[in-house]
Amino acid sequence: MSNYLDISQFKSCTCGNTVESENVKIDFKYTLIGWFFWSMGTTATPTHVKFTCEDCKIEFESLSDKEQIQYFTKYRKK
Ligand SMILES: [Zn+2]
Repeated sequence: MSNYLDISQFKSCTCGNTVESENVKIDFKYTLIGWFFWSMGTTATPTHVKFTCEDCKIEFESLSDKEQIQYFTKYRKK
């Protein structure tokens, strides 16, 4: 699996912030079962990733594709 994703396929905020901008908050959403494993210290894969622009406070993108989610869990850990 490649670590590369074409960022241009994602939506960006009207102010120009993208999913990789510093002023964007990344929220991982888990299922209830996911939260259970997370609280037990086990790695659970999120079901959704949401991107909120901190300048506009607008949620401009939401992803549910597994491969895309994995990319952003890695990206955030850097
Ligand atoms: Zn914005």
